[in-house]
Amino acid sequence: MAIQVLKFGGSSVADPERIGRVAEVVVQRRREGHDVVVVVSAMGRTTDQLLDLARQINPNPSTRELDMLLSVGERTTTALMAMALQRLGQEAVSLTGSQCGILTNASHSHARIIEIRPFRVWDELEAGRVVVVAGYQGTSYKREITTLGRGGSDTTAVALAAALGAERCEIWSDIEGVYTADPRVVLDAGRLQELSYEEMLDLSRFGAKVLNAEAVEFARRAGIVIYTRSSVDPSLPGSVIRANPPAEPRAVTGVACRRPVTAVEWPPGDGAGLEAVQEVLRERALVPDFVTGTATGIAWMVFSESANPGLGTVLGEVLAGTRAGVRPGLATVTAVGDVAAHEDLRTRMLPCLEELGGQVLAMFLSPVAITLLVEGGVADLVTRRVHRWLLGEGVPPVRDGSGGTNVPGMR
Ligand code: ADP
Ligand code: ASP
Ligand code: MG
Repeated sequence: MAIQVLKFGGSSVADPERIGRVAEVVVQRRREGHDVVVVVSAMGRTTDQLLDLARQINPNPSTRELDMLLSVGERTTTALMAMALQRLGQEAVSLTGSQCGILTNASHSHARIIEIRPFRVWDELEAGRVVVVAGYQGTSYKREITTLGRGGSDTTAVALAAALGAERCEIWSDIEGVYTADPRVVLDAGRLQELSYEEMLDLSRFGAKVLNAEAVEFARRAGIVIYTRSSVDPSLPGSVIRANPPAEPRAVTGVACRRPVTAVEWPPGDGAGLEAVQEVLRERALVPDFVTGTATGIAWMVFSESANPGLGTVLGEVLAGTRAGVRPGLATVTAVGDVAAHEDLRTRMLPCLEELGGQVLAMFLSPVAITLLVEGGVADLVTRRVHRWLLGEGVPPVRDGSGGTNVPGMR
């Protein structure tokens, strides 16, 4: 029988009622004749609550113990989901990442999947059971429990779909699809019907948490098509992420925001403390999200706070006594698109920058993105402005004929 992998995020399984609704969706798929593997996240805000709890005990907990703790969130959901299915008369079994044969490297808190040996999953499916898998976790070759980084249940789903040769991989969330910006922030953001892996990857990497970047990378490598669905209203059409969707490439895919981020700011011409910072980065095998410099040295380095808990404090300590400052609570707002091929995008940002005035602390350019560094408190406003300038109404006409388009980047 063809296998379907269905992943349900935290909000889709936030309470017993919602777990019951998901169980009904799964039973319906079984009735349609599919083998079903369900990947679940921790219920609601459980992961954040467990993190808070850990910090009350120890402000700088070891990542090994954090992984032991956080992996429990997903395990709780699997057992409850299996019970909900059994109550509906559907045979089901809950499995941890380790029991599913998900092998990772040893990088606690941001482990990478190296290999999946899904023998147990095959056996359970063969026996007619729905397999409920704890997302976001695996086991390292040292037999340690590892987690895959925030939002990592998406990665579990896609990687399992690839390992099982599944015919379908669906990511169910509180939103039906991928939009040109977070629709909670930009009310007139539009749903993107189809996206290429590259477009989705860039949106995810710059902070659109609707899909995890690792998951998209896995899907691209394995050629897995991702379908998104809403658990609030399953009748809504979602988005499809695949190679080479049929329409023309867009100039701007969307606007993504990452927050909170911590930045280190060096005064002009004074690089004191840079070596100490680089030492910390080497120790943690960390690469900053953005670096920018002046003729006389580095000016900014930016790190995601959720991906690097505790880093701001450590950097503050090593930079004590220098003129470099650690600034937590900032945000990056990124217009993602084919910046290299559409020079007009940079020109079109100028009036936006003028309108935002001193709110923009720094700007980073790459062939696929224009990023503004701002205070966390104005991130939503800046996201709305950038979206309006590049994708919404009032987009100024393209003047340089470089192939940019005045039409909002919707298909
Ligand atoms: P889950 O718990 O199901 O994994 P997440 O909270 O990780 O869900 O991701 C879904 C959320 O992502 C949405 O509620 C939405 O607010 C946010 N989001 C951010 N950027 C986008 C975007 N471009 N399109 C859709 N949703 C987005
Ligand atoms: N529970 C984890 C998190 O909150 C993983 C996930 O939801 O995908 O990041
Ligand atoms: Mg998620």
